[in-house]
Amino acid sequence: MIPYGRQEITDNDILEVEKVLRSDFLTQGPIVPKFEKSVADYCGASNAIAVNSATSALHIACLALDLGPGDWMWTSPNTFVATANCGLYCGANVDFVDIDPNTYNMSVKALKDKLAEAEKLGLLPKIVIPVHLAGQPCDMIAIHELSKKYGFKIIEDASHAIGASYNQTKVGSCAHSDIAIFSFHPVKIITTGEGGMALTNDEMIANRLVHLRNSGNTRNKLFMQPRPENEIWNYQQIELGFNYRMTDIQAALGLSQLKRLDKFISRRREIAKHYDKAFDFLPIKVPFQLKGTLSSYHLYPICIQENKNEITQKEIYNILWKNKISVSLHYIPVYLQPYYQSLNFKRGYCPNAESYFKSALSIPVYVGLSLENQNNVINIISDAFLDYKQE
Ligand SMILES: *Cc1c(COP(=O)(O)O)cnc(C)c1O
Repeated sequence: MIPYGRQEITDNDILEVEKVLRSDFLTQGPIVPKFEKSVADYCGASNAIAVNSATSALHIACLALDLGPGDWMWTSPNTFVATANCGLYCGANVDFVDIDPNTYNMSVKALKDKLAEAEKLGLLPKIVIPVHLAGQPCDMIAIHELSKKYGFKIIEDASHAIGASYNQTKVGSCAHSDIAIFSFHPVKIITTGEGGMALTNDEMIANRLVHLRNSGNTRNKLFMQPRPENEIWNYQQIELGFNYRMTDIQAALGLSQLKRLDKFISRRREIAKHYDKAFDFLPIKVPFQLKGTLSSYHLYPICIQENKNEITQKEIYNILWKNKISVSLHYIPVYLQPYYQSLNFKRGYCPNAESYFKSALSIPVYVGLSLENQNNVINIISDAFLDYKQE
């Protein structure tokens, strides 16, 4: 079976993890801060807070920006459910902005129109979460401009996009946002098994993220309240937090993987280039690259266009699976999920996201994907277009 994505683990990765297992600290010890600093430096952000998943990072990012009941959080429907769920965890209302039919990211025009409408109704969002789908950065300058005009905060869901760049800066620099989030799940660009990170250039937000991942506790005198001198107050809980800590075991794997990040990205770009060329002659839309951006190609989504044999996305999906290629789909529009349907979102709400859903397939792209297997995928897809209806 060829998966759509998979991790690369080397002997050195294993060695680094083993070192931690033989050390004094298993959970947060010296390696977590080292991993945080390395990612922050790589991205050009001043703070990075490691947590146990991107889902946790999204949750505490919303809390650190004071999202709560009565507030609105907007995101793209073309994402993993966690991007929307974090708003609901905070008791806020969640809404969706349709995607751009070329980039598959949140449409700036749709966002602009929706903001103008919301302003009239007094229902402006507190937070907007753009998602860099497949590692293709969103138009952050335009979204940042809108945030200044309408007064919302921005969390970048960059789960797919570590190593990508926008306008000569690395995604995660937070040059045009308040917080950026990475995921280190095994299918993502680098992995820690499970894990995530929140980056920010705001010291106050960073402090809150640190408290929120650790049950709301602090040992920093700056944040502690005065208590009687004859009592032992070596820490204080100052807000309601969680146990979202990353372990040193995970951070060691992440740190070791980070050393190969640039190699991973160039390998993914190489594969993407090969696919781009191969699909040029087929009724397939390949991932569009916005000017001034470099995708990390976490995913390589193709869109099946209308063709004379009338073969559909679903049929190509089935043919690939029959040939032991486990293609996937990123994503079913979040609001079409049964849980979100129960919140009363209607089919047709974001037409571009729905038409993408009906035509997109994520074909395999990962560091260890051989040229032979890339060609295998290409041949199965091109044969599907040729053979179909001749059977
Ligand atoms: C993977 C992913 C998440 C969640 O990441 P976890 O680390 O698995 O919690 C969130 N958003 C997007 C866009 C993702 O792809």
